[in-house]
Amino acid sequence: MHELTDCQLIQWPDDQAAYMAAINENPANAGTTTGTRRKRSVFNYSKLWANGRTLKIAFMDAPAADLKNHIIAAASQWLPYINLKFEFVDDLRGDIRIATQNNDNSSMLGTDALLIHPDYPTMNLGVKPDHADFEVIVIHEFGHALGAMHEHQHPQANIPWDKPKVYEFYQNREMNPLTPEQVDRNLFASFDALDAIYTSYDKKSIMHHPVANTLTLGNWEVPINRKISKKDKRLMKLLYPR
Ligand SMILES: [Zn+2]
Repeated sequence: MHELTDCQLIQWPDDQAAYMAAINENPANAGTTTGTRRKRSVFNYSKLWANGRTLKIAFMDAPAADLKNHIIAAASQWLPYINLKFEFVDDLRGDIRIATQNNDNSSMLGTDALLIHPDYPTMNLGVKPDHADFEVIVIHEFGHALGAMHEHQHPQANIPWDKPKVYEFYQNREMNPLTPEQVDRNLFASFDALDAIYTSYDKKSIMHHPVANTLTLGNWEVPINRKISKKDKRLMKLLYPR
Protein backbone atom coordinates (compact mmCIF):
# COMPACT_ATOMS: atom_id res chain seq x y z
CA MET A 1 0.00 0.00 0.00
CA HIS A 2 2.16 2.79 -1.21
CA GLU A 3 -0.35 5.22 -2.58
CA LEU A 4 -0.96 8.52 -0.89
CA THR A 5 -4.64 7.64 -0.51
CA ASP A 6 -3.62 4.80 1.81
CA CYS A 7 -1.94 7.15 4.25
CA GLN A 8 -3.12 6.52 7.76
CA LEU A 9 -3.24 9.54 9.99
CA ILE A 10 -3.40 8.12 13.47
CA GLN A 11 -4.72 9.96 16.49
CA TRP A 12 -4.45 8.76 20.05
CA PRO A 13 -7.82 7.21 20.94
CA ASP A 14 -8.04 8.71 24.44
CA ASP A 15 -8.80 12.33 23.73
CA GLN A 16 -8.28 13.50 27.29
CA ALA A 17 -4.75 12.01 27.40
CA ALA A 18 -3.98 13.45 23.95
CA TYR A 19 -5.17 16.89 25.08
CA MET A 20 -3.01 16.77 28.22
CA ALA A 21 0.05 15.70 26.21
CA ALA A 22 -0.58 18.45 23.68
CA ILE A 23 -0.93 21.33 26.13
CA ASN A 24 1.89 20.04 28.29
CA GLU A 25 4.17 20.21 25.23
CA ASN A 26 2.80 23.52 23.95
CA PRO A 27 0.17 25.52 25.90
CA ALA A 28 -0.86 27.29 22.67
CA ASN A 29 -2.47 24.01 21.58
CA ALA A 30 -5.43 24.81 23.81
CA GLY A 31 -6.46 27.35 21.19
CA THR A 32 -7.33 30.99 21.30
CA THR A 33 -10.15 32.70 23.12
CA THR A 34 -10.20 35.67 20.75
CA GLY A 35 -12.31 35.93 17.64
CA THR A 36 -15.69 34.52 16.95
CA ARG A 37 -14.88 30.83 16.95
CA ARG A 38 -17.28 28.67 18.83
CA LYS A 39 -16.43 27.90 22.41
CA ARG A 40 -13.43 25.63 22.54
CA SER A 41 -13.76 22.20 24.00
CA VAL A 42 -11.47 19.31 24.61
CA PHE A 43 -12.29 18.16 21.09
CA ASN A 44 -11.10 21.41 19.58
CA TYR A 45 -7.36 21.77 20.04
CA SER A 46 -4.11 21.29 18.17
CA LYS A 47 -1.19 18.93 18.57
CA LEU A 48 1.76 21.15 17.74
CA TRP A 49 5.27 20.79 19.12
CA ALA A 50 6.71 23.54 21.31
CA ASN A 51 7.82 26.26 18.95
CA GLY A 52 11.58 26.65 18.54
CA ARG A 53 12.48 23.20 19.79
CA THR A 54 14.64 20.52 18.22
CA LEU A 55 12.76 17.38 17.24
CA LYS A 56 14.82 14.27 17.63
CA ILE A 57 13.92 11.90 14.80
CA ALA A 58 15.05 8.33 15.23
CA PHE A 59 15.50 5.64 12.59
CA MET A 60 14.52 2.58 14.58
CA ASP A 61 15.31 -0.24 12.20
CA ALA A 62 18.65 0.76 10.69
CA PRO A 63 17.52 1.47 7.12
CA ALA A 64 20.10 1.52 4.33
CA ALA A 65 22.01 4.81 4.02
CA ASP A 66 20.38 5.51 0.66
CA LEU A 67 16.84 5.18 2.02
CA LYS A 68 17.72 7.22 5.08
CA ASN A 69 19.22 10.03 3.03
CA HIS A 70 16.18 10.18 0.78
CA ILE A 71 13.87 10.37 3.80
CA ILE A 72 15.98 13.12 5.38
CA ALA A 73 16.06 15.12 2.13
CA ALA A 74 12.28 14.93 1.69
CA ALA A 75 11.42 15.66 5.34
CA SER A 76 13.81 18.60 5.38
CA GLN A 77 11.75 20.36 2.71
CA TRP A 78 9.54 21.59 5.58
CA LEU A 79 12.42 23.21 7.44
CA PRO A 80 12.39 26.62 5.68
CA TYR A 81 8.80 27.15 6.85
CA ILE A 82 8.96 26.08 10.50
CA ASN A 83 10.74 27.25 13.60
CA LEU A 84 11.86 23.76 14.57
CA LYS A 85 15.09 21.88 14.04
CA PHE A 86 15.36 18.24 13.01
CA GLU A 87 18.05 16.06 14.56
CA PHE A 88 18.15 12.67 12.83
CA VAL A 89 19.60 9.88 14.93
CA ASP A 90 20.29 6.17 14.53
CA ASP A 91 18.85 5.31 17.82
CA LEU A 92 15.79 3.89 19.43
CA ARG A 93 15.07 7.12 21.24
CA GLY A 94 13.39 9.99 19.44
CA ASP A 95 10.38 12.27 19.67
CA ILE A 96 9.47 10.88 16.27
CA ARG A 97 10.46 7.26 15.62
CA ILE A 98 10.50 5.97 12.07
CA ALA A 99 10.13 2.34 11.06
CA THR A 100 10.72 1.48 7.40
CA GLN A 101 10.03 -2.24 7.37
CA ASN A 102 6.26 -2.24 7.80
CA ASN A 103 4.26 -2.19 4.61
CA ASP A 104 2.34 1.02 5.20
CA ASN A 105 2.66 4.77 5.40
CA SER A 106 1.31 6.27 8.56
CA SER A 107 2.03 8.87 11.18
CA MET A 108 0.80 9.91 14.56
CA LEU A 109 -0.60 13.43 14.50
CA GLY A 110 1.92 15.84 16.10
CA THR A 111 2.20 15.49 19.87
CA ASP A 112 0.15 12.27 19.89
CA ALA A 113 3.58 10.72 19.20
CA LEU A 114 4.41 11.46 22.86
CA LEU A 115 1.85 8.88 23.96
CA ILE A 116 3.35 5.99 22.01
CA HIS A 117 5.47 3.55 24.00
CA PRO A 118 9.16 4.37 23.33
CA ASP A 119 9.79 0.92 21.87
CA TYR A 120 7.28 1.50 19.07
CA PRO A 121 7.39 3.70 15.96
CA THR A 122 5.35 6.88 15.63
CA MET A 123 5.73 6.87 11.84
CA ASN A 124 5.84 4.06 9.30
CA LEU A 125 7.42 4.69 5.93
CA GLY A 126 7.00 1.56 3.86
CA VAL A 127 7.46 3.43 0.59
CA LYS A 128 10.81 3.00 -1.18
CA PRO A 129 12.84 5.64 -3.05
CA ASP A 130 12.15 4.03 -6.44
CA HIS A 131 8.41 4.72 -6.03
CA ALA A 132 7.27 7.63 -8.19
CA ASP A 133 5.65 9.33 -5.21
CA PHE A 134 8.24 8.52 -2.56
CA GLU A 135 9.10 12.16 -1.90
CA VAL A 136 5.45 13.26 -1.78
CA ILE A 137 4.53 10.53 0.68
CA VAL A 138 7.46 11.28 3.01
CA ILE A 139 6.71 15.04 2.99
CA HIS A 140 3.03 14.28 3.60
CA GLU A 141 3.69 11.96 6.57
CA PHE A 142 6.03 14.53 8.10
CA GLY A 143 3.28 17.12 7.66
CA HIS A 144 1.15 14.97 9.96
CA ALA A 145 4.05 14.54 12.39
CA LEU A 146 4.25 18.35 12.55
CA GLY A 147 0.55 18.48 13.41
CA ALA A 148 -1.10 19.07 10.03
CA MET A 149 -4.46 17.45 9.37
CA HIS A 150 -5.76 16.03 6.09
CA GLU A 151 -6.71 18.96 3.91
CA HIS A 152 -9.66 17.11 2.31
CA GLN A 153 -11.17 17.17 5.82
CA HIS A 154 -10.84 20.94 6.17
CA PRO A 155 -14.21 22.27 7.41
CA GLN A 156 -14.49 24.42 4.28
CA ALA A 157 -13.57 21.66 1.83
CA ASN A 158 -17.16 20.87 0.78
CA ILE A 159 -16.02 18.11 -1.55
CA PRO A 160 -18.99 16.90 -3.63
CA TRP A 161 -18.37 13.28 -2.67
CA ASP A 162 -20.61 10.66 -4.23
CA LYS A 163 -20.89 9.04 -0.83
CA PRO A 164 -22.51 5.69 -1.78
CA LYS A 165 -19.82 5.23 -4.44
CA VAL A 166 -17.05 6.13 -2.02
CA TYR A 167 -18.27 3.58 0.55
CA GLU A 168 -18.57 0.94 -2.13
CA PHE A 169 -15.15 1.66 -3.61
CA TYR A 170 -13.27 1.49 -0.33
CA GLN A 171 -15.20 -1.49 0.99
CA ASN A 172 -14.57 -3.59 -2.11
CA ARG A 173 -11.00 -2.76 -3.03
CA GLU A 174 -8.56 -5.60 -2.61
CA MET A 175 -5.80 -3.74 -0.82
CA ASN A 176 -6.59 -2.19 2.52
CA PRO A 177 -10.40 -2.13 2.35
CA LEU A 178 -12.11 0.39 4.63
CA THR A 179 -15.34 0.00 6.54
CA PRO A 180 -17.97 2.76 6.17
CA GLU A 181 -16.95 3.96 9.65
CA GLN A 182 -13.32 4.24 8.53
CA VAL A 183 -14.40 6.11 5.39
CA ASP A 184 -16.41 8.51 7.55
CA ARG A 185 -13.44 9.10 9.80
CA ASN A 186 -10.72 9.30 7.12
CA LEU A 187 -12.52 11.11 4.35
CA PHE A 188 -15.80 12.77 5.35
CA ALA A 189 -15.38 13.99 8.93
CA SER A 190 -14.10 17.54 9.15
CA PHE A 191 -11.72 18.80 11.80
CA ASP A 192 -11.61 21.94 13.86
CA ALA A 193 -7.96 22.58 14.70
CA LEU A 194 -5.67 25.57 14.29
CA ASP A 195 -5.12 24.55 10.64
CA ALA A 196 -8.66 25.58 9.89
CA ILE A 197 -8.50 28.78 11.90
CA TYR A 198 -5.31 29.94 10.18
CA THR A 199 -5.83 29.12 6.53
CA SER A 200 -8.74 28.55 4.21
CA TYR A 201 -9.24 25.29 2.33
CA ASP A 202 -6.42 24.54 -0.10
CA LYS A 203 -7.09 22.19 -2.97
CA LYS A 204 -3.37 22.23 -3.82
CA SER A 205 -2.15 21.20 -0.36
CA ILE A 206 0.30 18.33 -0.14
CA MET A 207 -1.85 17.26 2.82
CA HIS A 208 -4.82 16.66 0.47
CA HIS A 209 -5.48 13.14 -0.73
CA PRO A 210 -5.98 12.76 -4.46
CA VAL A 211 -9.71 12.58 -5.19
CA ALA A 212 -10.85 10.58 -8.21
CA ASN A 213 -13.47 12.14 -10.43
CA THR A 214 -15.41 8.84 -10.33
CA LEU A 215 -15.95 9.31 -6.58
CA THR A 216 -17.49 12.77 -6.82
CA LEU A 217 -20.68 14.27 -8.18
CA GLY A 218 -20.20 16.34 -11.32
CA ASN A 219 -16.78 17.12 -12.70
CA TRP A 220 -14.67 17.45 -9.57
CA GLU A 221 -11.29 15.92 -8.82
CA VAL A 222 -7.97 16.59 -7.15
CA PRO A 223 -4.82 15.22 -8.75
CA ILE A 224 -1.93 14.13 -6.58
CA ASN A 225 -0.32 17.31 -5.26
CA ARG A 226 3.42 16.79 -5.48
CA LYS A 227 4.71 20.03 -4.00
CA ILE A 228 4.39 21.86 -0.69
CA SER A 229 1.81 24.48 -1.72
CA LYS A 230 1.89 28.22 -1.03
CA LYS A 231 -0.80 27.81 1.62
CA ASP A 232 1.03 24.83 3.15
CA LYS A 233 4.03 27.12 3.58
CA ARG A 234 1.88 29.89 5.04
CA LEU A 235 0.19 27.50 7.44
CA MET A 236 3.47 26.10 8.74
CA LYS A 237 4.85 29.60 9.21
CA LEU A 238 1.79 30.47 11.30
CA LEU A 239 1.95 27.25 13.32
CA TYR A 240 5.68 27.56 14.02
CA PRO A 241 6.50 31.27 13.72
CA ARG A 242 10.07 32.59 13.91
ZN1 LIG B 1 -2.11 11.57 5.36
